[in-house]
Amino acid sequence: MKERLEKFLNDLFGKEIKDCTNEEIFEALMKLTKEMEKEQKNNDGDRKLYYISAEFLIGKLLSNNLINLGVYDEVREVLEAAGKDLTEIEEVELEPSLGNGGLGRLAACFLDSIATLGLNGDGIGLNYHYGLFQQVFENNKQSEVKNPWITKESWLNKTDISFDVNFADFTVKSRLYDIDVVGYENGVNKLHLFDIETVDESLVKDGINFNKEDIERNLTLFLYPDDSDKAGHLLRIYQQYFMVSNGAQLILKELEEKGFALRDLHKHVVIQINDTHPSMVIPELIRLLTAKGISMDEAIEIVSKTCAYTNHTILAEALEKWPVEYLEKVVPHLMPIIEELDARVKAKYSDESVAIIDASKRVHMAHMDMHYGFSVNGVAALHTEILKDSELKSFYNIYPEKFNNKTNGITFRRWLMHCNPELSKFITETIGSAWKKDAMKLEDLLNFKDDEAVLEKMLSIKTNNKKALADYLKEIANVEIDENSIFDIQIKRLHEYKRQQMNALYIIYKYKQIKEGKLPKTPITIIFGAKAAPAYVIAKDIIHLILCLQQLINNDPAVSPYLKVVMVENYNVTKASKLIPACDVSEQISLASKEASGTGNMKFMLNGAVTLGTMDGANVEINDCVGEDNIYIFGKSSEEVIDLYDKNAYCSMDLYKNDALIEELVDFIISKQLIQIGDPTNLCRLYKEFISKDYFMALLDIKDYIATKEKAFEDYADRKAWSKKMLINTAKAGFFSSDRTIAQYDEDIWHLS
Ligand SMILES: *Cc1c(COP(=O)(O)O)cnc(C)c1O
Repeated sequence: MKERLEKFLNDLFGKEIKDCTNEEIFEALMKLTKEMEKEQKNNDGDRKLYYISAEFLIGKLLSNNLINLGVYDEVREVLEAAGKDLTEIEEVELEPSLGNGGLGRLAACFLDSIATLGLNGDGIGLNYHYGLFQQVFENNKQSEVKNPWITKESWLNKTDISFDVNFADFTVKSRLYDIDVVGYENGVNKLHLFDIETVDESLVKDGINFNKEDIERNLTLFLYPDDSDKAGHLLRIYQQYFMVSNGAQLILKELEEKGFALRDLHKHVVIQINDTHPSMVIPELIRLLTAKGISMDEAIEIVSKTCAYTNHTILAEALEKWPVEYLEKVVPHLMPIIEELDARVKAKYSDESVAIIDASKRVHMAHMDMHYGFSVNGVAALHTEILKDSELKSFYNIYPEKFNNKTNGITFRRWLMHCNPELSKFITETIGSAWKKDAMKLEDLLNFKDDEAVLEKMLSIKTNNKKALADYLKEIANVEIDENSIFDIQIKRLHEYKRQQMNALYIIYKYKQIKEGKLPKTPITIIFGAKAAPAYVIAKDIIHLILCLQQLINNDPAVSPYLKVVMVENYNVTKASKLIPACDVSEQISLASKEASGTGNMKFMLNGAVTLGTMDGANVEINDCVGEDNIYIFGKSSEEVIDLYDKNAYCSMDLYKNDALIEELVDFIISKQLIQIGDPTNLCRLYKEFISKDYFMALLDIKDYIATKEKAFEDYADRKAWSKKMLINTAKAGFFSSDRTIAQYDEDIWHLS
């Protein structure tokens, strides 16, 4: 390794390691890593998975690829000997923001596990030049700027593959770029990212604004930008069709190159449709097959045996329904096929609720997936049950055999080995290294749950990680936090259903308590990280509230020794890797029934944080694994919540009027202190939202939340009892490895091995 790196540096820059800058070493390491990837075996086989997804939130790649190639420690030591620090060199790499949050991160974890299990499967997506956006705080508000990540030397490998993609009025030429996906001590797969040759970065002038109509130049600039208007919706359809048309052409090209017949597509190919964004791959494949002489009946049958759909949400606004008019405008050649698919459904089922094209002429993408795919899966046990019992009940009645659950998972390479090297090392010293390949082996840690030395070591590792986070936050945000305080962390997209606003009400509660002289046993640091969709007004108001509270509290000398609030700017995978190992209390407080699974909850648990959460998504399964002594559960159940929605029986105003504490907390949003700091427009709008709507019922659970959180913070003071909870959480996290999830996809849906 030493010689190879030295040779690279010498060839590139004519220097020795010790004389190179971190930028130069990064470039050499990236090239060396790419070369080593070429030397690995490519996963192959007669049957192949294509995981199509509009998002792949892959994070930085250098360290993870080195870990998976099995050379991370060696590289680190070579660099150390020359006075260089690999963690500083990592900082040079830019993080691609090719995803919004959990859904895109899941796709990235899946690619890692697919390669690690040696399965023949590639990802297909888009090469957004400016990603989602970079979040900047100004005047306690979020603003957005572009997030460029493609540098001259990057992980992207330009290929000679290019296809024509036809839209109504013009044709674009695509270009495929590949990123190697290395499995942990196993083969290599590809992430295929399609781009256009004519993309024009100069279209973006200020912030993230650009001419949304200039498709031939804007198509791959951003991950579906602001979709609050018609131009945004149309651009999204252009992107989706561009992605699936390229995907379908690539799939058929590879099939033919291997010498397989088109008619045998379903025998050699399985396509996983990640949420509804890639749904048009179904009519597109049917169109391509019929154009090659296969009958409509047969094409429909073949494609239906090839495609499988994953549902990620029950939030109605996320289940895409495109107006026929929009599809006619963008991809008129697809409409006859979609109409044919719809006609066949209508001929068989009179039930309006299962139609593909509804009475208001909108195309329900998920309905197409369920009728013309062979598998429908939810992403956690509770989520799949809710799909079967309520959200997708009419489909479950028709196709019970298609429904199955695949509880999400995370890759332990990134979310333990890379982000928490000290804990990884200690686990290996304690139980051996088998857990790296078989995550269930982490349960061996349970043998040490009463071992004082082991428990103390868990605590000291946690304190070290908290100290490192404190240093990092001092550096990037100039805030000082105390590593001996409780680190309570809520990091995830900003959405009302995730209820950051409820956490903000807790902060108000605690602030007032401290002001009254009721001091906590242990000081508390509450940390947030969250991007809001640019057009999501209330989400931005919630960010504003949190940032105002941060300013008020951290600058109040009577309060700040006991309570601090930190909202980290531009939450992303890199930030997550620094925050998660330092967490004591993991906030997973969504309104029950609304969080399909969550994966942040799994990352925290693995790193020894204790969950404070509702019985929602995968929290339910975490609760089953660790037992009620090792988790803090509160709030109304999903049944109760679903019932409240069904009966339209929730009224936040009643709760506000009839409970003095709730009234006091909500009123604080428009108190003199906060209005002085913040913008009255935002704060008043948020206040009104709470009392007149509160659609995701923060006021329903707030009292139970406060009581349960107080209990957790009390318990924290018993360090020994707490460290046992930490150990049990890590020990029981094995089930949430994405290796397990992927093995189940393969066993039940893909049948690759
Ligand atoms: C894991 C992860 C998410 C998903 O978090 P949830 O709490 O499950 O919503 C979102 N963003 C990033 C950067 C992540 O790493």
